[in-house]
Amino acid sequence: MVAQIWAVQSSTFGGLGLFAMQDIPPDTVILEEPPMLKICDDDVHASHRSQYVCTAVNMLPSTIRAKFRQLHGADPTRSQAYQDGRILHLNAFGTAINGDVWSVVYETISRANHSCRPNAGLTHNRLVSSRYIAAGSEILINYLLDETLLYTPRQKELWECWNFRCACEACTDHITNNEKRLLMKRLQQHVVLGNRGTRSAAPILDEHIEKIETYIRLVREEGRVGTDIFLANLALFKIYLLKDTLDKAYEVLKSTQRLGEVWQMNWFAGEFAKYLSERIKSIG
Ligand SMILES: [Zn+2]
Repeated sequence: MVAQIWAVQSSTFGGLGLFAMQDIPPDTVILEEPPMLKICDDDVHASHRSQYVCTAVNMLPSTIRAKFRQLHGADPTRSQAYQDGRILHLNAFGTAINGDVWSVVYETISRANHSCRPNAGLTHNRLVSSRYIAAGSEILINYLLDETLLYTPRQKELWECWNFRCACEACTDHITNNEKRLLMKRLQQHVVLGNRGTRSAAPILDEHIEKIETYIRLVREEGRVGTDIFLANLALFKIYLLKDTLDKAYEVLKSTQRLGEVWQMNWFAGEFAKYLSERIKSIG
């Protein structure tokens, strides 16, 4: 007998989910099962739907009925008809059979949670891996019919249809990238202010230095060099001159030399010369 490669376990998304019990290569049939309930959507008017579903569930063998009612969506404070309708809504896959649209619920496949970057999909009662799934990872499918939706419309549809805010890998990446972009925009303000060369109180200049250094680190992390780094270094350089910390200004100049941009070096040297001549004038 082939060992079962999946298991139902607690999911980090809340509730239960399906998990890989061993490494699963792409295009592997993870499991195949017949639906436990099929409802032809065209047969039912929306206003009678819950009652219709409840009647159908009551006709199931008792063990299957119990399994259906254990799926996500049960709410003992509501009527059985409401609960059955909601369980069907939250767990069913829409599928076309002979030109009709059917809602199909599976005992195990319906436990699979959603990801906007799924690693499996459903075809003909089979859950099939679409990517490599490492042992211990959750098996995730895409609930959305349109897989090309961007972050905002995706979240809107998931909320409206399934009542959850997606925190999948793709959505988390989106938020992290967005937050990083916003942070960098805020930090860049200090580069702009530093480049104005305005004389300010020492704590303000120190804050500019700290923020600009963070900005340079983040820009470097993104692998961006060139103008962004140059402008940030120039701002630092000007601030160090304002603070009369020539050793620090010289360090910035040297770091620019390492970047190997001759024109940038000339720019700094010009600023340095301007600074020195003003200092000499003020002393004289
Ligand atoms: Zn998502």
